[in-house]
Amino acid sequence: MTAQLDLATVLLLHKSSFLIGAFCFLYARWQSPRDEGLGILASGFLFLALASTLAGYGEQKLLPAHLWTLSSFTLGIGGYALFWIGVRRLSAGRRRSADWLALCVPVTGALIGLATHFHVVNTVRASVFNATAFLFLAASAFAIISDRSREPLPARAMLAAAMTVGANLCLAVVIGLVKPGIIPVTTTYAFFLSIICHFAIALFALVLVKERAEAELRRSADTDALTGAGNRRWFLAQLPKSNWHGDCLIVMDLDFFKRINDRYGHHTGDQVLMAFAELARKNLRKGDCFARLGGEEFGLYLPLTSEERAQAIAERLRRAVEELRIISRGEQVALTVSMGLAVANGQERSWEELFNSADAALYEAKRHGRNRITLSTSSTVTISKPIAPPLSRAG
Ligand code: GH3
Ligand code: MG
Ligand code: MG
Repeated sequence: MTAQLDLATVLLLHKSSFLIGAFCFLYARWQSPRDEGLGILASGFLFLALASTLAGYGEQKLLPAHLWTLSSFTLGIGGYALFWIGVRRLSAGRRRSADWLALCVPVTGALIGLATHFHVVNTVRASVFNATAFLFLAASAFAIISDRSREPLPARAMLAAAMTVGANLCLAVVIGLVKPGIIPVTTTYAFFLSIICHFAIALFALVLVKERAEAELRRSADTDALTGAGNRRWFLAQLPKSNWHGDCLIVMDLDFFKRINDRYGHHTGDQVLMAFAELARKNLRKGDCFARLGGEEFGLYLPLTSEERAQAIAERLRRAVEELRIISRGEQVALTVSMGLAVANGQERSWEELFNSADAALYEAKRHGRNRITLSTSSTVTISKPIAPPLSRAG
């Protein structure tokens, strides 16, 4: 395989791989509504392409040695520094201003070069360059993997793997330069493999951007835009297709919500909905499913929960809502909620039946004066004090 590789062609392809990668990043940046580090990645690859071009001209003796060695070295290290900054931004999805300090590395390298002229010695320059490239590539792979728990996208593993292979190739070149003969890979072959890595890095970085966009799309399709809670579609998808015996379903409806809208305005009504959803989220257990089913109606699915436990959870939330005060335009808006609770006993043929039972219980709660929880058997479990109608207190 090595015998068939021609160095001049490999070097041309090496430069081209950076250029193609840069154009892919630029195109993705142009298409993307957000800055995800793609512009920085493109500039990193363009720097590397330029460094590679200068080195190519230098090897052909078209440029003075002291000029091309220092400029290609500095641009190359600068390219890898930009690459690392871009990867960190891509991975975290946010800006990290301190990362720009990485550009001190090429600047320091250039200053040391000017002072010592180490760059004129090929092995020293190539060793320092590849060792630095190894560090930036390894740090980039680490960044991609360490953000995996926060955002578990499948492309992360492939992107980190491509970077790790690229980093190890740089390391192999350093070892080959320092101790010739140890690594059974020629420089030409190492260049050839790194071309594949550049393509793989560009490809998987773009796949990561695509996976992120798809995940956001899925999230927004499942989320209620106003309250941030799950929507009806999401809620129904959470309900098990079978074996729901022992699960509980609670349907909640805010009391006299229309009056809140009429008295304080639609904007305040929206604030009340948001505050209720936030309070509900705080009062629930991990694993409970809470969603806005529509309007001022919310659903709560409690898997494998006894009737008593479900009542206790519902009662805690009912009380918390009762005590909640939403400040809107200098006024305190108070709120109550009614709930219908249905426990699956294994006899139901579908969730629709359980929904009907919970709805019937909710209707009973409304009929008996609101601000209470009613079981689907119609036995009122919580009878709270009578409620004051339009729920306002002067602020
Ligand atoms: P009840 O105690 O019987 O449930 O009375 P209610 O006033 O809460 O119920 P009703 O069904 O009469 O009114 C619900 C109101 O909720 C009417 C509708 O305009 C309002 N609503 C629905 N969705 C939204 C929303 O997203 N924002 C706001 N501000 N209001 C909404
Ligand atoms: Mg209502
Ligand atoms: Mg309603």
